[in-house]
Amino acid sequence: QTDRGACHAQTTCPYCGVGCGVRATVSGESISAVEGDPVHPANQGRLCVKGSALHETLGHAGRVLAPRVDGQTVDWDTALDVLARRLHATQAAHGPGSVAAYLSGQLLTEDYYVANKLFKGFLGTPHVDTNSRLCMASAVAAYKRAFGADAVPCCYEDLERAELVVLVGSNLAWNHPVLYQRLKAAKTRNPLMRVVVIDPRVTDSCDIADLYLGIAPGSDARLFNGLLAFMARTNRLDRLYLERHAEGFEETLAAVLEDDTTIEAIAADCDIDAERLETFYYWFATQLHVVTLYSQGINQSSSGTDKCQAIINCHLAGGKLGLPGAGPFSITGQPNAMGGREVGGLANQLAAHMDYHTPGAIERVSTFWGAPSLPTEPGHKAVELFEAIERGEVRAVWIMATNPVVSLPDADRIKRILADCPLVIVSECMENAELLEVADIVLPATGWSEKDGTVTNSERCISRQRGLLPPPGQARHDWQIMTDLAGRLGFGSAFSYTHPAEIFDEHARLSGLDNDPARPDWRAFDISGLCGLDRAAYDALAPIQWPVNADHPQGAARLFEDGRFPTASGRARLLPVRPRLPAQTLSETHPLRLNTGRVRDQWHTMTRTARAARLMNHRDEPFIELNPFDADAAGIEEGRLIELAGEGGHYRGRARIKRGQRRGEVFVPMHWNGAFSGRAKANALITPLVDPISGQPESKHGAVGIQPL
Ligand code: SF4
Repeated sequence: QTDRGACHAQTTCPYCGVGCGVRATVSGESISAVEGDPVHPANQGRLCVKGSALHETLGHAGRVLAPRVDGQTVDWDTALDVLARRLHATQAAHGPGSVAAYLSGQLLTEDYYVANKLFKGFLGTPHVDTNSRLCMASAVAAYKRAFGADAVPCCYEDLERAELVVLVGSNLAWNHPVLYQRLKAAKTRNPLMRVVVIDPRVTDSCDIADLYLGIAPGSDARLFNGLLAFMARTNRLDRLYLERHAEGFEETLAAVLEDDTTIEAIAADCDIDAERLETFYYWFATQLHVVTLYSQGINQSSSGTDKCQAIINCHLAGGKLGLPGAGPFSITGQPNAMGGREVGGLANQLAAHMDYHTPGAIERVSTFWGAPSLPTEPGHKAVELFEAIERGEVRAVWIMATNPVVSLPDADRIKRILADCPLVIVSECMENAELLEVADIVLPATGWSEKDGTVTNSERCISRQRGLLPPPGQARHDWQIMTDLAGRLGFGSAFSYTHPAEIFDEHARLSGLDNDPARPDWRAFDISGLCGLDRAAYDALAPIQWPVNADHPQGAARLFEDGRFPTASGRARLLPVRPRLPAQTLSETHPLRLNTGRVRDQWHTMTRTARAARLMNHRDEPFIELNPFDADAAGIEEGRLIELAGEGGHYRGRARIKRGQRRGEVFVPMHWNGAFSGRAKANALITPLVDPISGQPESKHGAVGIQPL
């Protein structure tokens, strides 16, 4: 309580995967200020500009305040009755798999848990996927292949304790600013620390780089295969680690050596300077405490899983993981991408890090839930799901807290597909979400400052996001909406939740079910140590990194410190990787490579961040970055309005001519869309080609033509 009658409350930022703790000043029914939570381990008092403007994005204006059915405002009972009736009719006519859910890394873990249970366990459809598919699905697939678990082995502190930090496919300075601040401060404290940036674009992250490698787009796997060969050639392998804790090394190295692995050949293929490449290889090979931090530049590729694996191979070969300051570290984009995976929110997962094909998992989960009709095979991943809607196989889709008509590849086509879908249900808090234009049923959802539950950030840290303000209008929590619906569908007894603490407890119990770390089939994700929290204990829950169980009652900063992995053999796996170029090919009409990404001060499709005027100061309109040579060739000067044309659409923006942009490549931000600028939807230009293992779309590698307007 402050002397003015306000009070301070701890919660978590709802934007990026850093998951910063926020101290909010709550005055009556508003939040008057926010600051970084000094005791939250992720940010230790820091906030970036987006986080520090959180209180400026609130208020009832522009919120979805009441349910709507076919464009008419209705009360909740009517909306839920209609929804139950239409879902039931769809499944009765077309089978359980005719219904799907498309979820979001913006949801809280408790919302995600209830959605996964309702759709898979009780509606009997496997088609539950999430926008996290667009974010880190390749990293997940690679961790599972290599470690036997979707388990990030590192923590943020490792960035500060490393001797070498490699940022690859990550503009940390803009996309995870607080983590960048931590890294920058650590580098100032330790002048011996080196930072290498590997990225086709010169970004603000290069400000702290000792070495920059401006590689050709998509050549990452070739670069890391070359590193493995270099380590072998220079006797920098950790033979003892490989012998005791890994398998597959000899086959992997043999496959790598089938290609020309001389420095000159790799430098030529990656289009970088050979001396710089050798310097990077030498630094990596000779340091033990190396963190390779990667993000969408690696994941959003038709060979993203293999790129991640190529990185992991190098860390395993050098024994550079499971110890402070070392490891292959995937940083997620969204605030709760990891929490969604924990409950099983991907179409190829079942629940609590169990897959459909995990021995005994289907019976274990269906018995635990009392679920009558659990599917036995995985469902459609995001891009496949919308294709199934287009074919008329999926006829009802419930979309929560995400805006796929802006964020999915070929975004304009996605909008047409949804316009033709017989039943589109949208849970949303903002009226300016373009998706609402194609919704049959709109359900007003609570947003940040109202929602109450947990999120898990990129270092496996579970934090409370607390409900500080009352829901506006008739808005309800997502878990409540689904619970209310489940009752109408006859599943009420399995969804009798009255508080998120009860959902969290059930989730924690499921994570520990038949999960004995002494057994060979143990699961890395286990929060059974958090079972049984009453409401007060749940509300007071301090940030904690999973696993939390009998072996780790206080959580664990790092995984696999004992060199034991949850694979059949107990060893980590190296796997041969054949480098592949982007699947989207250039042509005479589309001769430029398109790269997409975020800007520092906006979030996703701008439905919230655009409400804070000062967040527009950094970049206030859509833009297209291009190299001076390409600008000259097309007769384009700085600031000119230009248009990109791709297979699926057009993008208009102002030219920003940059030497740090590679020749033949352009960059556009992914935030602006129909609601904000008319004709600047980056993902309309992206062809929906995906990684065959992870299903993640190749959002970093479009092909476009350019013309001045
Ligand atoms: Fe929020 Fe990410 Fe900024 Fe932290 S770094 S304040 S989590 S947007």
